[in-house]
Amino acid sequence: MHDFGIMGMTLPQFEPDRCVGCGACVRTCAKKSVEALKAVNYRPVRNEEKSIGCGECVISCPTRAWTRSQKKYYRLTLLGRTGKKNPRLGEDFIKWADEDSIVKIILNTYEYVEKYIDRNAPGGKEHIGYIVDRTGFEEFKRWALKGVQLPAAAEVYMPLYWKGVKY
Ligand code: SF4
Repeated sequence: MHDFGIMGMTLPQFEPDRCVGCGACVRTCAKKSVEALKAVNYRPVRNEEKSIGCGECVISCPTRAWTRSQKKYYRLTLLGRTGKKNPRLGEDFIKWADEDSIVKIILNTYEYVEKYIDRNAPGGKEHIGYIVDRTGFEEFKRWALKGVQLPAAAEVYMPLYWKGVKY
């Protein structure tokens, strides 16, 4: 429900020699996460499309066969909001972004708001979600990604839908 939801992600690294085939990571992933791991010949195999980079496999492994990637990644979820009038859940915009990209997108967003905010709105304030509703998401995206060098692993999700509205 945040305007910007930033969640850490890790790209788990697997060291086969350390794996004793206990299956703890596969069971944990099935229970707590998205079933991105399955056991093949008593070894975990990670499904890259399903994995959300939560790191539960790293926590559950007793032998440190799974470790976190040195590089940190982030998932950016956009424009959720609370309130009685028009609440909505945020939608995923980018997965596997790096820190520099996230910071740049936030700075760009300040510029976008400065450009488009309705100064005549009550109290001189306008929630960013409503500004984006007004300008259209494409325009927001154009500003937000200006000069941003996303890492090769990054996935940008388009179009985004909130409550059935198509941008
Ligand atoms: S929890 Fe660790 S040791 Fe057990 S199967 Fe998974 S990777 Fe192998």
